[in-house]
Amino acid sequence: MNKAELKEKLRQWFKGLPEKMKDALYPEGITCDICGDELVAETRYHLCAKCTEEMPFIGDHICLDCGVQIDNEADYCDRCQRSHGVYKLNRSPLIYDGKAREMVHALKFGGKKYLVTTIGAMMADTYIKHNMQGEIIVPVPMTDKEKRKRGFNQAELLAYEVGKRLDIPVLPALAKVKETSQQKELSGKERAENLSKAFEVVYPQVKDRKILLIDDIFTTGTTVNECSKVLLKAKCKEVSVLTACITKLKPLME
Ligand SMILES: [Zn+2]
Ligand SMILES: [Zn+2]
Repeated sequence: MNKAELKEKLRQWFKGLPEKMKDALYPEGITCDICGDELVAETRYHLCAKCTEEMPFIGDHICLDCGVQIDNEADYCDRCQRSHGVYKLNRSPLIYDGKAREMVHALKFGGKKYLVTTIGAMMADTYIKHNMQGEIIVPVPMTDKEKRKRGFNQAELLAYEVGKRLDIPVLPALAKVKETSQQKELSGKERAENLSKAFEVVYPQVKDRKILLIDDIFTTGTTVNECSKVLLKAKCKEVSVLTACITKLKPLME
């Protein structure tokens, strides 16, 4: 049993206890996923009170399209007022900043795969909160070379975690067939060119289905938009996007 499974087992045992025993009996050895402090009471996620408070959760007033938090009265953010993806919408539990960035980096670059449980739980809660629709979950793929380099595809791990929690089947229906440059170095137009023809549908079962596309970070939406294009071309009914984090709005580069 790995660390995450052990923690989960302890938490399940704890949930089964009568309410009045809980305060006195919170199990030892359950620690915050980020800072490692021991947890002393039941929490929604595997995080201590301090890390939860510092976690940049997205508030209630969001862009109806990409789901980023909006601090004025508008219905759409600047990014979405200018251009519209072919996917129906994106929703994310977190702004890609501070503790959220730290957590995603620890997963991607630190190999801390147990974080998938916490991040996946946040994503599943977001799906329910926004009444999202998905009949099949599809992760954003990596090329074989990219996956070999990292050892895993974090979007795929998150997809399976979310699928398990929401009881929605996961189908790795997309393949990434072209090596691409680092997206963050490129402008919007270059991003689209870089990713053009990068994705292919490898399972025709997406036809007539509502797809829930999963990735770790929504930056400009170019990646999920390219994936959505090929899924729609394969005649899926619609694509909704669920990502762990969305970047704060920045002035567009072009
Ligand atoms: Zn903590
Ligand atoms: Zn938006």
